[in-house]
Amino acid sequence: MTVTTEPAIVRGESTSPLVTAEEFPPLTHFIDGAFVGGAGESSSSGATSDASAAPTTIADRVEENADLLIRLESLNTGKPRVVSEDDISMSADVFRFAAGAGRAFTEMGSGDYVEGHTSVILREPVGVVGVVVPWNYPLLIAAWKIGPVLAAGNTLVLKPSEQTPLSTLKFVELIADLLPAGVLNIVTGLGPSVGARLSSHPDIDLIALTGSVPSGQAVATAAGQSLKRVHLELGGKAPVIVFDDADLQAAAEGVREAGFWNSGQECGAGTRVLVHSSAAEEFTRLLAEQVSSYVLGDPRGGDDVELGPMISEAHFERVTSFLDRAIADGARPVVGGAALEGPGFFVAPTVLADVAPGSEASQHEIFGPVVTIETFETEDEALTRANEVSYGLAASVWTKDAARSLDAPRHLDFGTVWVNSHLALAAEVPWGGFKGSGYGRDLSIYALNDFTRTKHVQINHSR
Ligand code: NAD
Repeated sequence: MTVTTEPAIVRGESTSPLVTAEEFPPLTHFIDGAFVGGAGESSSSGATSDASAAPTTIADRVEENADLLIRLESLNTGKPRVVSEDDISMSADVFRFAAGAGRAFTEMGSGDYVEGHTSVILREPVGVVGVVVPWNYPLLIAAWKIGPVLAAGNTLVLKPSEQTPLSTLKFVELIADLLPAGVLNIVTGLGPSVGARLSSHPDIDLIALTGSVPSGQAVATAAGQSLKRVHLELGGKAPVIVFDDADLQAAAEGVREAGFWNSGQECGAGTRVLVHSSAAEEFTRLLAEQVSSYVLGDPRGGDDVELGPMISEAHFERVTSFLDRAIADGARPVVGGAALEGPGFFVAPTVLADVAPGSEASQHEIFGPVVTIETFETEDEALTRANEVSYGLAASVWTKDAARSLDAPRHLDFGTVWVNSHLALAAEVPWGGFKGSGYGRDLSIYALNDFTRTKHVQINHSR
């Protein structure tokens, strides 16, 4: 099959700044209720000693300042406004959910399990939680941790990515008066120094990292020395299984969103299509049509910009070198396949067909705007091959067969399996992986549970 590759449209920047100098946060640590420099001098303080402030009030503050946080997030990352809007609105929603969920823990009932003794289960905070987050959703993933950690009654020390600290520092400046000093602390710096110190520090009771597998391994190893608890949300390589009975148009539209949202810099991105051989040609044509319509650009390039650049030159080089090797390996670019000429680290939205099972492009997280297509013959083969990756974060199944939609997810080794959808998240439902994607859950009541400890109190009432 031959598909014409239309050149992607890239919108340039306008001259107006996204954020003015006065709107920037102090670019330093926030510790014990104040911004402090590296040497410990205090530069400002907004925190109160009122312990009654709740994550609900935090959600309101985020919403009141949404436009500024959206612009800062786009400046931080280069992502289009539409993606930053989604990040900030979901951040507020997560705080709102966590505040309510913190009031609704349920435990097993009290009871006499030993004669003359009554057992009661107490749910307690863990203590001090260390949090390390990545650059792809800077404030949103910070919110995924801060909301449940605070709602479960802990304090925390959070390190944003060294590439994207702006929105988190602005957030803490905006909400400083809502929390007692010392409850939420932000330390900035590099992973192998500041992140590693949080992982090994004896006064941190639990360390939570969202990031790459190597960082997860480093954190878990360091945490092992003090036997602190570890919560890991790592990479992904989500298969998208398209059966021959699927609505192919809906599947192509679904992959357009799920494979390319945030320029594919997304841990749950639907990047590895496994399509039944009888539907492969039609599906590939439909997907190519969908992906060719993307407009890329600077966040100031206009409301129709849907995709931004790669986060950094190093990441741009990584993604384009994956493309070069995949094409040299025999993969066929149906759309895109290379960097885009001109300023900025833009990679053309790419669909690669004829990708060999087991090849690098089929197995490794590229973390860019690249979707690969493989074919299969039987349902068993599709499910087996879908599981043949080291990751286990997310997957989707596309079918109109009701029995298959119930059965196939049970055979898939992924923490989230969507049917006829991909990448739909909500604060109420858990998010997290199996295997190389880590352990622990973000979002939902399960995240609150992860940041608590269970205590059994047994009272001898026969004395
Ligand atoms: P990264 O691992 O390079 O960095 C993540 C964070 O870890 C950063 O703050 C970094 O400074 C810190 N870090 C790095 N080395 C460390 C060390 N030795 N000790 C402690 N901290 C260290 O990841 P990234 O490039 O920022 O983000 C992309 C990765 O994150 C991808 O693999 C993506 O799949 C993953 N991710 C996963 C989820 C999820 O929910 N599972 C969500 C978003 C991103």
